[in-house]
Amino acid sequence: IGFLRELNADPTVHGILVQLPLPKPLDARAVIEAIDPAKDVDGFHYHNVGALVVGDPAFYPCTPWGVMKMLEHEGIAVEGAHAVIVGRSTIVGKPMALMLINAGATVTVCHSKTRDLPEVVRRADIVVAALGKPRFVQGDWIREGAAVIDVGVNRVDGKIVGDVDFEQANGRAGVLTPVPGGVGLLTVA
Ligand code: NDP
Repeated sequence: IGFLRELNADPTVHGILVQLPLPKPLDARAVIEAIDPAKDVDGFHYHNVGALVVGDPAFYPCTPWGVMKMLEHEGIAVEGAHAVIVGRSTIVGKPMALMLINAGATVTVCHSKTRDLPEVVRRADIVVAALGKPRFVQGDWIREGAAVIDVGVNRVDGKIVGDVDFEQANGRAGVLTPVPGGVGLLTVA
């Protein structure tokens, strides 16, 4: 935390990104709150989380922000669309929901306690899969023509696969992001 304070005060440092998770006994929340919100490029400080809730410009978490940029780039209408997000993490699912609400979507957030997940996903114009379970979202959960954004990164038999069954969903979805080579590239950028 002392080192972060030094970086906060250093005018030659413009952004600070703490790689999570942190080893014990470090308290990740205390570390994040020690970052100057004006340098919190990950957007995890309460100040920036609050700005996202309100819809004010701030540093936003990069993975869901990358998804927003992707939708914009592909000309996918967000306003008025029904977006279903699978996953409610602080890093992906929740900020994704806030960004989509702010952009005028009707948003449903699903998680491990959601009943009838396939039925909920079938009602989506936009599906964001961020649950961390390989090929979990099945092709017949996808409404014909839906935009499917696969955030998942899972290692199976030495291969990286997403949270969506790509083979099944390909052809039903109007657009579908690959894993690897999709959302991850934007997160890195
Ligand atoms: P977390 O493990 O923090 O959250 C997973 C979420 O999925 C939880 O909300 C959990 O529900 C929900 N979930 C788990 N199992 C099910 C299920 N069977 N049905 C419905 N919901 C379920 O993961 P992250 O959000 O950090 O990451 C999600 C995925 O995205 C991972 O594969 C991760 O590697 C990847 N990722 C990719 C990035 C990229 O740049 N491409 C960046 C960040 C993450 P509950 O809350 O009830 O437990």
